[in-house]
Amino acid sequence: MVQVSPLLHKIHLYPPYPTPRTSLASQRHPTRFFKATPLIFDDAMQLLLCLSKPAQHLKKNPLMAASGSGSIMWFRKGLRIHDNPALEYASKGSDFVYPVFVIDPHYMEPDPKAFSPGSKLAGLNRIRFLLESLVDLDTSLKKLGSRLLISKGEPGQVLIQCLKEWGVKKLCYEHDTDPYYQALDIKVKEYTSAAGIEVFSPVSHTLFNPADIIQRNGGKPPLTYQSFLKLAGQPSWLSSPLLTSISSLPPVGDVGSCEISEVPTIKDLGYGDIEQEWTPFRGGESEALKRLKESVSDKNWVANFEKPKGNPSLFVKPATTVLSPYLKFGCLSSRYFYQCLQDVYKNVQKHTSPPVSLAGQLLWRDFFYTVAFGTPNFDRMKGNKLCKQIPWNDDDELLAAWSEARTGYPWIDAIMVQLRTWGWMHHLARHSVACFLTRGDLFLHWERGRDVFERLLIDSDWAINNGNWLWLSCSSFFYQYNRIYSPISFGKKYDPNGNYIRHFLPVLKEMPRYAKGVHI
Ligand code: FAD
Repeated sequence: MVQVSPLLHKIHLYPPYPTPRTSLASQRHPTRFFKATPLIFDDAMQLLLCLSKPAQHLKKNPLMAASGSGSIMWFRKGLRIHDNPALEYASKGSDFVYPVFVIDPHYMEPDPKAFSPGSKLAGLNRIRFLLESLVDLDTSLKKLGSRLLISKGEPGQVLIQCLKEWGVKKLCYEHDTDPYYQALDIKVKEYTSAAGIEVFSPVSHTLFNPADIIQRNGGKPPLTYQSFLKLAGQPSWLSSPLLTSISSLPPVGDVGSCEISEVPTIKDLGYGDIEQEWTPFRGGESEALKRLKESVSDKNWVANFEKPKGNPSLFVKPATTVLSPYLKFGCLSSRYFYQCLQDVYKNVQKHTSPPVSLAGQLLWRDFFYTVAFGTPNFDRMKGNKLCKQIPWNDDDELLAAWSEARTGYPWIDAIMVQLRTWGWMHHLARHSVACFLTRGDLFLHWERGRDVFERLLIDSDWAINNGNWLWLSCSSFFYQYNRIYSPISFGKKYDPNGNYIRHFLPVLKEMPRYAKGVHI
């Protein structure tokens, strides 16, 4: 019989729930996957994305045609064709476009020391999601007469080598506010400015440019959602439809001596035959647009969307869009998503508004991006002016119990299994486990929980993840310290029959609905 007792006592570290089985030993060193592959020039085909409007309704983006014969389109996030101003500019006036994605070993190569299968930075589910997104992008590029060039190595070095080898005059990539990319961009720009290469790096990952908002606020990021909304106003691009389809792209030029491959598989990356339960969500722009179409076609649902209402225990059909992993990798443009929502709002009599509406969720995303961009050391407690300095406990055993779904609270453990196996959980499920780890029960440092989420989430996003952990631990933004999610009654409210728990913790499948002392 499973007994439930407060986890503050270490005796509680027991329930031997089966954790997802993936043998670390099955990870081996990466095999070499680079082979000289012939360039494929498919017939240029009109790419009609699921949701693209007829071409005559699309206003041309007012980007000037640039001079020069060749350009590089450097894909990092923004793994899409629709609403991709960097790709559009790269192809303007160019005889050749080299669409490049660099496999960063830190991000992709197996790290046998990591606490779950995957690389130093990412769990396997997210790596696979990325590879699927790359395959989808490559397929779309091929339909447009191009293809994706995969290279491998430290991205800055690889890119500089490509710039030298291909002699291009233009480098285009989507602007990225994450510290990792900011540092990378400085390095690359040092080279391009010395070499006289034009760089075009538009803001298209977010609805607004975080730097503009910060400037409008006198150099400081707004610290409340409402002040953010006031400063942001309406997005400038909203009145002109975004470019959602491209008819063709210039061909890829000669790749010379640069090592280029097709998109590798998980196996090519050195992971061997992995036995694990994979996330049910497939990566890629096609899947993102399909999901978006399904969501926005239910106008009533969109119009009445209200968060934080919604049932976190629904998993056959989750209560929210599950578009976050697609937004994370830029398989879906947040601007296009926002525009589709506005189209729905225009055609219904009544709809919810920010902060609770679906458009309001995208604004939360932009809010966290803006604060994160404007706050030094946003991802830590020390040196972060926004973060309360709290003497958190440090206890590796309790942390392991939480992250390995061994707390003894079925609701908490089921959520942590969903994190490991799916890499996605409903917002309120994230609230439950984040509150539990920090101020609610274990009193462990939010940075430790953040690290676990950062690795295992398929939508892991630097600004949003850190922002929400600051929030849930009452370190910043939200200070109602005593508003705790009960690890028992909160789950019971949404999952009275234990369907969610039984699904993610099959060891409890046969448990009677109300067993004495057990709240399932
Ligand atoms: P929907 O409700 O359908 O919302 C649409 C989109 O709005 C989401 O895809 C997301 O991009 C954005 N959004 C929704 N809620 C938030 C929010 N609270 N803050 C910022 N943007 C939001 N979200 C991530 O994308 N990446 C993370 O790494 C991440 N870490 C989190 C950590 C914690 C501790 C918590 C409590 C929340 C975290 N979230 C994160 C926010 C939120 O839980 C997810 O964005 C949401 O559950 C994703 O599901 P969805 O796409 O169905 O959301």
